[in-house]
Amino acid sequence: MNLRFISFPLHLATNRTLTSAVSPKKLEAIAFLNTAPQTNPTEPSHEILFQYEPKDMREYFSLGLIHLKPSSKGFLKLNTTNPMDSPLIYTNFLSNPNDMEEILRGIAECLKILRSEEFAKLGLRTRKLKAPPCDQLRYGTDDYWRCVVRHVGHAADQPYGTCPMGSRENGQSVVSYELKVHGIENLRIVDASVMLPVSNGHTQATVYVIAEKASDLIKNSWDWGNELERSIPLPLRLSPAAAAFD
Ligand SMILES: Cc1cc2nc3c(=O)[nH]c(=O)nc-3n(C[C@H](O)[C@H](O)[C@H](O)COP(=O)(O)OP(=O)(O)OC[C@H]3O[C@@H](n4cnc5c(N)ncnc54)[C@H](O)[C@@H]3O)c2cc1C
Repeated sequence: MNLRFISFPLHLATNRTLTSAVSPKKLEAIAFLNTAPQTNPTEPSHEILFQYEPKDMREYFSLGLIHLKPSSKGFLKLNTTNPMDSPLIYTNFLSNPNDMEEILRGIAECLKILRSEEFAKLGLRTRKLKAPPCDQLRYGTDDYWRCVVRHVGHAADQPYGTCPMGSRENGQSVVSYELKVHGIENLRIVDASVMLPVSNGHTQATVYVIAEKASDLIKNSWDWGNELERSIPLPLRLSPAAAAFD
């Protein structure tokens, strides 16, 4: 099971005071970046969410960080034999130490953005997050960020890959390339669970693509769409030569 981890380690206040009614909290922008372009320049390693969070006529915003390709893998188990019961989910977040180091690299990139000329105009002030166990650590050190990430991080709501697609022989896959469950006739899985860890951005659009593909596979296996041709008596069908003269 692949679960991304999201943390909002950076909260900031601008030098602006709001004069009118406070506008709602909103996600203003999303950025994708690659902290190690030498590995694969086209593959983003992190996503940054810029969230506007005005409060009490003051203007605040935060930067959320998603590490897109976590090395830590979770798993889930059936809890009971009743299919209506919830499964047991083991997220295993940050169990691979590389993930925390990748998150620190992402935070360093966020700080670079905040030090840019455009952001400097906002006269930013940092707001320390409420993470009491981290208070004794010096603000801004790697240990401080590690502590904050562990306390404010949570699942990024896009689980996938519990029934990955692949050949039966590899012993790890649940569905075939036609989305059929290995070993069971006439049962397909059509959702985010069949995804391999390939998605860079969010998962919804990929789910639509899987669903479109599944509808084609199902129609094809029932030979739907050819009813018209089947219903026309044979002599009336045009041969390719006749069609060319038509
Ligand atoms: C809070 C949140 C925000 C998100 N934001 C984004 C975003 O901004 N962009 C993006 O691309 N993705 C986003 N996602 C991810 C995206 O929603 C999922 O990747 C996508 O919905 C997965 O589709 P799915 O068909 O696999 O599962 P789901 O959409 O979860 O569909 C599963 C369906 O099965 C039904 N179901 C469950 N159990 C049973 C049962 N026993 N019998 C019958 N029906 C059952 C459920 O009611 C549900 O309708 C977000 C997810 C969350 C939770």
